Formats: sequence, C-alpha cells, structure tokens
Amino acid sequence: MFMSQLYSPTLRETPSEAEIISHKLMLRAGLMRRSAAGMYAFLPLGLRVIRKVEQIIREEMNAIAGQEVLMPMIQPAELWEESGRWKDYGDEMFRLKDRQGRQFCLGPTHEEIVTALVRSEVRSYRQLPLRLYQIQNKYRDEMRPRFGLMRGREFIMKDMYSFDRDQETLDESYWAAYHAYKRIFSRCGLDAHPVEADSGAIGGDVTHEFMVLAESGEDLVLFCEACEYAANAERAEGVRVPVEAGETPLKTLETVATPDASTIEQISRFLGVEPKDCIKTLLYVADGKPVAALVRGDHELNEIKLKKFLQCDELELADDETIFKVTNAKTGFAGPVGLSIPLYADYAIEHMVNAVIGANQDDHHTINVNLNRDFQVTEFADLKQTQPGDPCPRCSGVLEGARGIEVGQVFKLGTKYSDAMGATFLNENGKETPLVMGCYGIGVGRTVAAVIEKNYDEDGIIWPLAIAPYHVIIVPVSMKDEAQATAAERLYQELQSQGVEVILDDRDERPGVKFKDADLIGFPIRVTIGAKSLTNGQMEITLRKTKEKQSLPIEDIVPTIMNLLKDGVEK
Ligand SMILES: [Zn+2]
Repeated sequence: MFMSQLYSPTLRETPSEAEIISHKLMLRAGLMRRSAAGMYAFLPLGLRVIRKVEQIIREEMNAIAGQEVLMPMIQPAELWEESGRWKDYGDEMFRLKDRQGRQFCLGPTHEEIVTALVRSEVRSYRQLPLRLYQIQNKYRDEMRPRFGLMRGREFIMKDMYSFDRDQETLDESYWAAYHAYKRIFSRCGLDAHPVEADSGAIGGDVTHEFMVLAESGEDLVLFCEACEYAANAERAEGVRVPVEAGETPLKTLETVATPDASTIEQISRFLGVEPKDCIKTLLYVADGKPVAALVRGDHELNEIKLKKFLQCDELELADDETIFKVTNAKTGFAGPVGLSIPLYADYAIEHMVNAVIGANQDDHHTINVNLNRDFQVTEFADLKQTQPGDPCPRCSGVLEGARGIEVGQVFKLGTKYSDAMGATFLNENGKETPLVMGCYGIGVGRTVAAVIEKNYDEDGIIWPLAIAPYHVIIVPVSMKDEAQATAAERLYQELQSQGVEVILDDRDERPGVKFKDADLIGFPIRVTIGAKSLTNGQMEITLRKTKEKQSLPIEDIVPTIMNLLKDGVEK
C-alpha cells in the first residue's frame, strides 16, 4: 500500500470529544471517526487491526471446537418475551417495528436467538457438546456512551454459546473457553486477568471477567497479593469476622435533636462522632414489600448483593411516601429501633457498640444504640461494597484495588434459557432434559482500545506485531530524489514478495511529517532511506517500541526485517 493512496487522515491536535488515550490516538492516527454518539466508522488501518484481532479469536475458538455462525442482528420480540427479558432489558435495548407493526430489537446479545436456533434441531445427547460462535455488531443504548470504543452503543463482539448435556460437561466447555480467552488476549499482547464477577442481566451463577489493569478502566478490581483471589469490586465477597466480647461499656439510649442533619456526613459532624460509629438504615421495596438494609456509616450498600440475598425480582429504594409510612418520619431519619419490617444487616453491624441511628422521628437521631439490647436483626449477610483495604475472603491477606478494563467475560448460564424457552434433548436414558448452556463474550473494539491504553508513548501508538495494521513502513526522505525513490520501491517489492505487510510513504511531504505519522500510527518497523546513507550503500531501521536505530548495508535490510518479524519484534 502506498501512503499517498491510503485513506488515513491523521490529526496533529487531539479532538475535544476524546478523554482517554486510546480514544485520542485512534482518532489522531486516522483509525476511526465518530458517526454519532457511541458509534464509529472504522477507516482502513483501524479495520485491519480489528480484523487481525478477530482472526486470532477465530483461530482460538475453532481450536476448542467452536463453529462459526452468523445470526441476525435484528431479533423478534417474541423470543425475548419467552425468556422474560423483553421487559427486563429496559431502556438499554434499541427497539423497532416493521411495517406490519411487529416488534423487534437490535440484538444486545444473542442467548434467545441461539437457543431458538438449537432447540428445533438438537434432539439427542449424541449431538452434544455444541459450541457456536459469531463475530458481529451488538447494540446497547447506553445512557452515557463514552471513551470511544470502551463504551459504545454499537460495538463488535465475539459471542460463543455452548450447549451441554450436564453440569460436568458444561464445566469442560467453560474452562475450555476460559483458557482460550487467556491465549487470545496474550496473543493480542494483553495481560488480561480473570476475576470473579457478577453475571448481571445475562444470568447464571459462575462468571469470570477478563480485566486489563489500566488507569482509564471503568471497573474497580480487588485482588489479593498473598493468594490468587481477584474479583470485580461489585462482586467481591465480604468477610464475617467473629464477634469477641467487647470491653466498651454500653451507654444509655438517648434520642437527641439533630435539625437539618440527615446524611451520615452531616450527622457525624453535628454529633462529633466518626461515620463508622453511625448505622445507615436504607429502606427498599423488594417485590412490593418494604425491607430495611443496615450498613456501617462509612460503608456503601451493594444493591447487587442485597438483591441476590433477598432473591427478589425487583428491588428499588423506597420513595418518601413509603419511608414516611414505615418510619413515621421524613426521609433521612430512619433507624432500626422500633421498625416492624424485616431488617437485614451487613456483618460489620455485629461489631458496633453505642452506635448512632435515625430515630424514626423528624430531625432526631438516637445515640448509644446497641444490637440485641435495643433492636434485633432478621438476618445478617454480606451486603456492603467491598473496598481496597478489606480482608481477603480466601486468606489472611488484605485486598488491594486497581482500575480495570473488561475485555471479555465467560458465564455458566445453566438452564436459565433452555428452561424458559423449552430447549431440551433426549439424554442417554431417553429422558427429555434441558440443555445446559454457557456463553462467552469478547469486546473486539474494546480489546483494541485496551491494547492502546497499555502500549503508547508521547509520539503515538506502539502496536504489538500480531495486530499492527502493517508491519513495516518505508520512508524515503525525499521521493523527488530518483535514487531514493528507486531504492524504496525495490525494497517495497522485495518485502511484499516475502509476504511482509508493508507501506511505502511515497508522499511529497517533509521527512518530519512522515516520521511523525509513522510514529503516531505505530508501525513496528520503519526503514528510512536518505540520500547520504544510500550513497554509502546503507539504509536505517528504527524500531517503534524501543526507538533503537540501526544503519545496515542494503543487502542486510530484508533478512534483518525477516528475523525481527520471526522474533515478534519487541527487542
Ligand atoms: Zn488472599
């Protein structure tokens, strides 16, 4: 490819729409352009990178007996009604109607479609296991699309679905995908850590996210240096510490006026106590019934944990009216003493002595409150958001925190979809049995963005060889110099005939402009051809990553490049 013909408009200035480095560099290097919020057009170089990542994914999916299919991205509402997700998916789903008024959506994921596809064909255990995957655009109407490919509304995803006869064979599919994912990310030059995660709207019990640790990551990952434990913070388990007989004397219960102090911050300042000495009483409505959740004042309640613990379908914070009905007070003054609804408390509450709570009375709090003496808890549970500094749930270590970019996730779905949609097979004993499913996703664009977040310098992107848009760029200092032009073209032909992916920068630009573009786009190897070195029979090789330069006799250039490519460059 000649640079003069390549559609790769580079930018010297960073567009104001971009906040994080991968987004900035993908725009500046001319890899993509924004069409609408969270939607991007890939330009030739960007698409080459995407295709290379897809090819790596394809090879690894095929290696674990995955078979590629392509399902429609427009999906009929009826299938989503069957699984119950037409309603559950909410505003994130792009919905549309055909001319007959039938409802469809733009697929945010494909569990329903693939289950329907398989249920009509798979009849016997002899047809299992079955692993189907596709690489396709997905659609989610994100509230805040941002960070370029990190959180888009249209994005390319690889999704695989496995169908097995039982839990044991699902385990095999799950771990096969898990290890394939490790290979995929490593081949893309990424260090992606599997962490325990929450399954969210997809469902299922066991799931791992693959996280690339980076400052720009939207997720908080908690991990233990002393053991292997790592989890998404929203999922990370809290530890129940045994209560020891305390020595602090229990003081007398007292209700005090606290005008205008309703938040933990206000009340702790007003009473001169620490937030950790206060109890936050949060009122929720779970499947229509009010419940109270108690966490320590300096902790955050984790709604995912609460919802899972209550095993309810719908959970929302109670409104002012409900709070008044339950507590007889305005919002901000709820407390556990005297409440007649179920009280669920985080483990940390067990350790509190002489705590401060809302008095269930406008502008009043109660101090010196003690568990058992003043109130009873319906049940204790792990309800708080786990934080860096908390104890490790697996060993005696302490959890540390890091930001992470989620590039993939694997789920054991079990029979959630096959039960709901009647996808069964006849087992060895001729018995009708639901298919046991798993699903496995990789964000292709997000993987590319994560690679850039981990591989760049002040000049631009530093592509790992495996997914670089081209391997080599040849830069003659002046194409007007016939000797340089001829030598450049000869080298270009020779590298092409060896199967090297090469670009010749034949533009009539100043050398500085060409070097800047080469660095910005991030070709792993640059060959510079100048008038002076050429008269000495030499050319110069520059490695993008290390900036290491080497002048070599012309006849050594091709063999040196071939060796660099064989070694995967780096250096
Ligand atoms: Zn540990």
